[in-house]
Formats: sequence, structure tokens, C-alpha cells
Amino acid sequence: KPVAQLTIEQATHEVKELSLQVEQWGREYYENDNPSVEDYVYDRAYQRLVELEQAFPELQSPDSPTQQVGAATSSDFAKVEHANPMLSMGDVFSVAELMDFNERLQRNGVDNPEYNLELKIDGLAISLVYENGKFVQGSTRGDGRIGEDITRNIKKIKSVPQTLPEPLTIEVRGECYMPKEAFAKLNEQREAQGQPVFANPRNAAAGSLRQLDPRVTANRELSTFIYYVPDFQTLGVTTQSAALERLSELGFNVNLNNKVVTTQEEIKAYIDEYTNKRNDLEYGIDGIVEKVNDLALQEELGSTVKVPRWEIAYKFPPEEATTVLREIEWTV
Ligand code: NAD
Repeated sequence: KPVAQLTIEQATHEVKELSLQVEQWGREYYENDNPSVEDYVYDRAYQRLVELEQAFPELQSPDSPTQQVGAATSSDFAKVEHANPMLSMGDVFSVAELMDFNERLQRNGVDNPEYNLELKIDGLAISLVYENGKFVQGSTRGDGRIGEDITRNIKKIKSVPQTLPEPLTIEVRGECYMPKEAFAKLNEQREAQGQPVFANPRNAAAGSLRQLDPRVTANRELSTFIYYVPDFQTLGVTTQSAALERLSELGFNVNLNNKVVTTQEEIKAYIDEYTNKRNDLEYGIDGIVEKVNDLALQEELGSTVKVPRWEIAYKFPPEEATTVLREIEWTV
């Protein structure tokens, strides 16, 4: 039923049910690395909850999953407090919605900005801390404020430099992922050994990294793409695109398929290009990320409790549209 036609009683009931459902799926996904539904099913339910809370603001509680990043950390790991919160990201599901986002930015005084377009890597966010050029701490995002200490596991990932060519004290962030081929091999092995298989490369990466025994992580093929520096002044750069180049020079694995654009046509062309190429990439991507390229402007725009205002994810449509519709009707 359209949100506008609901009575307050109906809306209250639906918000309660949906919150419980979204929370449960969130726990399965973030805490257990074992989701029971596809992402688009989760996304639809989440979107409906957002709409309900917008139409009935009195029903939005600070505990709502729409106001939380990820999920609480597992008690199996030591806790790490992030110096700067690790946030989630707003998302849109069509080019039209992406253009609305850009128009809103313009209305808020951001005049014809440059955007850096990047691939949205389907993995899990990690934070890496270096002191005087030495890797000292790795952590997961957790609930955005407190993450899990996975330093020993991160040390097993070959693409993470243990030492930087300059004695920088810096935090960098990025995505840890499992290449598609490694994922297929791992699942084959697990099936042969009668173990449960991972639902997708993202969950395989998360399940492999969040291991108490780093030797298990060492046996899984994991890689990284680094794309963010909270304190960009340390790098001496002023744009996101320059930050990526600098990170690459420092020895980090960086996905250099990014593109700086200014027009709608360029944005659409990039989306088309990677919608077509995504199956040929050796890692999973679930969309495109658009970021305001000017880092000082990013800082000025800031963020909400959950997402930065200077970036947005365009999510690819799910591949099998008919199954999707059936499941959505059934679930929501
Ligand atoms: P998200 O994963 O959609 O987006 C934010 C994340 O994108 C960042 O934390 C970062 O890790 C990542 N990212 C990848 N490439 C990036 C790049 N180039 N630049 C910046 N960031 C990049 O957000 P989220 O809050 O973790 O979770 C929502 C997602 O998780 C949705 O896609 C949802 O479908 C899925 N989810 C699914 C279930 C389920 O049950 N299937 C449950 C919960 C969440």
C-alpha cells in the first residue's frame, strides 16, 4: 500500500515489523557474514522503512536501523575506537535518482562540481593505521564508531604494505575483497568437505577476515583496494583523484578505473560502461560511487549521522528481474 494511504496505526505496525526484519537481516549480514536474503530484498525493505519514517517522522527512533551504521562488533575481537567515524553511504537505484542527488547538491550551493567516479567494490570496509610508515593496526567498520581489531589477519594480506616508502603517520581506508576466482575455488573446496558454502564473494571475504585464527585468513585469497584518507592534508593532496594516485605511489592497491567528470552524459557513459564490463572484472562490484572531487568541499559538506553528503552509490539493478519482483512482493 502506498505510504500516503496508511493510517498512523497501520504505519506504526509496519515500522515495527520492518525494523525488526531489517535488524535481523543486518545481524545475519554484518555479524554472522551469512545473509539469508539477497541484497535487493534487504534494500527494498530498508527503502520502505525510510519512506515510512519520512512520512511519519514521529515513528523514527534513534535506534532505527536507518540511523545505524553496520552492526555491533563481535566480542571475539578486541575493540578499536575509530578516530573518525566509518560511515555508511547513501544509495540510489536509478540514473534519475542520481541526477536528483546532484541537483540537490547544486541547490545547496555546490556549483558545477567535479565528480570522481569509482567502482563500488563488493567487499567489507577496513581501516589501516600506519605510524612513521609502519603498519600498526587494522580494523573493521563495526558500528562505525567501534570496530574490531583484525591487525593480525590484515598482516596476512599480501597487497597491504607493512612499510611505506615515507615515514607517514596516517590512517587509510578501503575495501577488502575476495577475487571471483578465489571465491569459486573456496566454495568448491568447502562443498567437497561438506562445509557450508559462502553466499557471495563479499560474505566470503568478511568471513575470511573476521577469523580468530589468522592462519585461516592466510589460507584464503584476499585482496584490497584503498580509496580514502580521513586526514587528506597528510598526503598533501586536494582532490580525491589525486589522493588515489598518491595512495598508489605509496604502494597501496588502488583501483585506477576512476574517472573525473563534470557532465551528466559522462556520468551515464561511465555507468553504462561498467554495467557492461562488470561481469568481466575479476572482482565483484555492486555499483558506482560518485564523490565530490574537491576534498575541502567534501569537508564543508560533512555528513549526517549515517552517510557523507558528498558521495552517493548508484547500485546496479539485480540481474534476474522476475525473481526479484516475486521475492519483493512476498517479503515486503
Ligand atoms: P554499502 O556497502 O552499500 O556502502 C558503503 C560501503 O561501500 C563503504 O563502507 C565501503 O566499504 C564500500 N565501498 C566500496 N567501494 C567503495 C568506494 N570506491 N568508495 C567508497 N566506499 C566504497 O553500505 P552498508 O551500510 O555497509 O550496507 C548496505 C549494503 O549492505 C547494501 O548493499 C545492502 O544490500 C547490504 N546488506 C545486505 C543484507 C542482506 O541481508 N542481504 C543485510 C544488510 C546489508
